Amino acid sequence: MADYDVIVVGGGPAGAMAAWRLARGGANTLLVERQPLPRHKTCGGGVPMIAANVLKLQELTDLAADSFVELTVNHLMCTYNFANEHLLPVNSEGGNQTGIWMVQRSIFDYALVKRAQTAGAVVQDGTRLTTLDADRAGEVDVTVTRNGQQEHHRARYVVGADGANGIVARLSGVRPTRSVAIAAEAEVPYNWKSSSTKVRPDVIHLEFGDVPGGYSWLFPKNDHINAGAGLFSELAPHHTSPQSTKDLLQNCILKYLDHAEIPHDKSNLRYHFHPLPLWNGKHSLQNRRNTVLLAGDAAGLVNPIFGDGILHALRSGELAAKCILEGTAGTYTHDINTIYQSNFDSAQRMARLFYRWPEISYNLLVPRPGAGQIAMRLLSGEAPFTGLTRRMLRRISSAAASRRGRYDRANL
Ligand SMILES: Cc1cc2nc3c(=O)[nH]c(=O)nc-3n(C[C@H](O)[C@H](O)[C@H](O)COP(=O)(O)OP(=O)(O)OC[C@H]3O[C@@H](n4cnc5c(N)ncnc54)[C@H](O)[C@@H]3O)c2cc1C
Repeated sequence: MADYDVIVVGGGPAGAMAAWRLARGGANTLLVERQPLPRHKTCGGGVPMIAANVLKLQELTDLAADSFVELTVNHLMCTYNFANEHLLPVNSEGGNQTGIWMVQRSIFDYALVKRAQTAGAVVQDGTRLTTLDADRAGEVDVTVTRNGQQEHHRARYVVGADGANGIVARLSGVRPTRSVAIAAEAEVPYNWKSSSTKVRPDVIHLEFGDVPGGYSWLFPKNDHINAGAGLFSELAPHHTSPQSTKDLLQNCILKYLDHAEIPHDKSNLRYHFHPLPLWNGKHSLQNRRNTVLLAGDAAGLVNPIFGDGILHALRSGELAAKCILEGTAGTYTHDINTIYQSNFDSAQRMARLFYRWPEISYNLLVPRPGAGQIAMRLLSGEAPFTGLTRRMLRRISSAAASRRGRYDRANL
């Protein structure tokens, strides 16, 4: 007899979503989270509002958007090398609200975990999964460590939602090949009333020329600004040493703060670094026996051009739970690929173009009418990258060809 129907590993959006859906569907569910909750998560905390549909907020009594959304952003201020400014509205006139929620992950993720708990999931924080044996059919044995004590549990399924540095994938023999980006953020205290600078609480700032093979950002929060920078490693091969990458990201963050005239104490800024496992094509996200399913960052479901993963963590967590509840765990990878494969494959091609030719790409894409709305529709998955990538490839090819005299299409 299993102790639980499902053990969910990780209390981020993927795990909390899966645990909520499972418990609500009647599954006897344990969620284990390594850190004591609420916990800091290195992140910008930008959530496309479409996530409201995924979260099914209207069905909730214990979780209101007001309790975790700090600010709602409706403009993007884009720059290239801190010049060539474009302020892009993200909502279409009279259309649906497609803005971006600014959340603090400690609050947001905890609200999701609480919701799972209220639905009946057993939640153990400060509890780390240490071993996993999925060799027997219909059963997974795990060991968790809590307060230095080991506990053994048996479950019919495990959902591996243990993030970019998780161990479930490795322990269960599912090894999605990853393309890893690295990003950093720092929270800079900020008073919107007294500080007079170039930033606004309803505007996200994005700078595309300063980070080679990536971008930097300023995200507004209630009492601080989340300043960050990320680079897509395969596109910035010259920054191979982890320390030089960290220094580079740190310097880009400081430069952005200076340009935006945001007061900050250099010596007291605390930087958080974290990998981003980007989508890297189709891979199996379940073990041979279909008893272990990976979701969120553990499954490499981070958008390869924007680097966002919260919405995809929520979606995949929900889908993993649905497959388990409906007895269709065997189709999970296929179901994920149906949603993501063609779109994220195109996004990956577009990322290679964009970050390789950032100035040309920026000038082609950002000043276009409706660019902000298009970005939102791409971010939320409402519009596919597919057609856009083809058009962009043609335009960038000819722009690059005329600039350099020749252009090697095969290398893209
Ligand atoms: C600097 C930065 C900025 C970002 N900004 C954004 C953004 O603005 N918008 C966006 O959409 N995405 C953003 N992302 C990506 C986003 O943070 C992730 O895609 C998202 O957190 C994935 O959620 P998850 O539930 O899969 O994993 P996580 O949120 O990482 O949760 C995994 C959890 O598993 C726990 N865990 C790990 N190992 C174990 C274990 N052995 N036992 C028990 N628990 C374990 C961890 O403690 C963690 O709490 C950003 C990422 C970075 C690095």
